[in-house]
This record gives sequence, structure tokens and C-alpha cells, in this order.
Amino acid sequence: MSASDLEELYRDILLDHYRNPRNRGKLPLASCAAHGANPLCGDQITIEVTVDGGRIADIAFDGNGCSISQASASMMTMYVKGRTVEEARDGVAAFQQMMVSGEALGEEYGDIEALVGVAKFPVRVKCASLAWKTLEQALNNEQDNQAAAAAARVPVTTDERSQ
Ligand code: ZN
Repeated sequence: MSASDLEELYRDILLDHYRNPRNRGKLPLASCAAHGANPLCGDQITIEVTVDGGRIADIAFDGNGCSISQASASMMTMYVKGRTVEEARDGVAAFQQMMVSGEALGEEYGDIEALVGVAKFPVRVKCASLAWKTLEQALNNEQDNQAAAAAARVPVTTDERSQ
């Protein structure tokens, strides 16, 4: 495949995700969520995640903005759905590495490699990275939620019992 063929294929994958976004919408039982914005371009993304047993059981995104930001969100949800939180965080790191190095990720990353060309345009890197950074924030919020839930389970103290 020539370089221009590959660029065309990547462009087609990107447009397909933009026009037919995967996992777009809201979750009835999200365990965490986060909102991210890229003021430079006007991109907005909200991500909801249902974490169950350390695994991303379900994920959805909503938002608006340029084709790169929305297509990247669609690709991200496809990649992380069903994976462990750990694997999802590794995915965030791998994506950021691709944006720095400009080298495509392996086949196991599926459609995500279609965004490799964005690495050449620093302004667009913010568009492509938005969904991944927002996912990371949602997973951090999940950790906080877990910590709060654990704290709430602490047995009541003698003082509280006497009231
Ligand atoms: Zn954008």
C-alpha cells in the first residue's frame, strides 16, 4: 500500500467514526463520568463509564466538535470497552505516545492508528487527545468514588450509635 493509499484509508476510517459514532449517548447506570473541553477548537466531550469488577463494562460519550475530536472519542470507546481499567490506562498512555512519536500503534489497537497523521499537527493533537484525557479523568473520579464508598462503609463509632 502506498503512503497516499494509507492516508486515504485513515481518512475513510476517521470519517466513518465521525458519521457513525460508536457508543454515543448516555449510560443508565454510570459509575463515573467526566467532562472535557478543548477551547482552542471548541470541542466538548462527556464520558460516562460503568466500571464493574475492575473492568469497563460499558462506556458512552456525548459531545460536539470537530471530526477529529468526535471520531477519536468513538475509537477510544471501542478500544476500552470490555477491558480492565489498567488496560484502559495503558491505552491512554499508548495513544499519547503515538501523538508524540508520530508512529502508528500496532494492529491490536484497531482503528486508533488512523489518527497517527494528526501527530504532525500540534493544534489537532489537542482535538484527538481530548477523549483520552477525559477518559483518564473519569477513571480517576471512579477511584475517588470507590474511596468515598469504602469510607462510608466504616462501622459507626460509639458516639454515633448513642445518638
Ligand atoms: Zn477539534
